[in-house]
Amino acid sequence: MWHLGEIFNDLTIVAIPTRTSFRGITVREAAIFRGPAGWSEFAPFIEYNEVQSEPWLSAALEGAYKPWPELKRNKVGVNATLPKVEISRVNEILERFPGARTVKIKVDDFEKDSELVEAALDFNSDFMIRLDVNGGWDLETALLNLYNYNLRFGKVFEYIEQPCLEISDLRKLKAEIPMKIAIDESIRQALDSDFTDAQNFADIAIIKWAPSGGISRANNLIARIGLPAVISSALDTGIGISHGLALAATQNDLTLDCGLATLSLLESDVVLPALEISDGFITVNRTVPDEKLLSKYAASSDRRIWWQQRIEKIWESGFGERWQREQLD
Ligand SMILES: [Mg+2]
Repeated sequence: MWHLGEIFNDLTIVAIPTRTSFRGITVREAAIFRGPAGWSEFAPFIEYNEVQSEPWLSAALEGAYKPWPELKRNKVGVNATLPKVEISRVNEILERFPGARTVKIKVDDFEKDSELVEAALDFNSDFMIRLDVNGGWDLETALLNLYNYNLRFGKVFEYIEQPCLEISDLRKLKAEIPMKIAIDESIRQALDSDFTDAQNFADIAIIKWAPSGGISRANNLIARIGLPAVISSALDTGIGISHGLALAATQNDLTLDCGLATLSLLESDVVLPALEISDGFITVNRTVPDEKLLSKYAASSDRRIWWQQRIEKIWESGFGERWQREQLD
């Protein structure tokens, strides 16, 4: 019989309020635990089912049980993130990313959201802008909105992230627009695709440590897709972020800033020393949770039970047996 506590040492569930609603989330929950290689994190979004959560558990266990591979750099450039907020809050939010050269802005349309782009450029006229649409536009809407963004702002855009959900639409869009296209949902929702013609519908791949299944699988995925990668996070705590930073640090070429400064979106982190952004970079280090912060942000006992059951369900679906066998190989 498997005992949760033997594999997930010091398992703690934290619930950290976010500073602004992001993906509709106002409290971020995460399971934090320790293995022989250090601390790790399991934090698929609440609505994800067991199949969707499985790669996150692979990543979490790799983080706790495997030492990091060779790192090619000790710090990683990061982008600022601007969620949908009142214009009056833009400066206060962007100030949390000291030295960032790039800003990612979540947009739904041109009419309203172009004001966010304008406010970001008022804050820093040298910003490279990334728009993230989360697949929210059909082809026609994407063409119209991007025509307007291009007309109004010109060459400030580094790329447009997932303007449409359908690959057939991205393919047509790519032939029409002057901006580069990054894919995120197209990768996450089809991790097993072969991506052999990815360069025909995208220019950049957004890669995340946890949903990709950890550092080793993420690097295989990057090699398969064959596009420059932007290593990003999924609103992780400083434990998960440290593994994202390590993934970024294993890249031979890393010219694009990473989406790993998302801790600024949370009310607090649970690690000490904190992961600081300095001159647009974060230093790559294994992180350790702080006892006081862990107890301050400890989740309620019913949430703790919910997370334990979530892990157990995936484990008992065959995952646990496979994982234990792999440890013996
Ligand atoms: Mg995205």
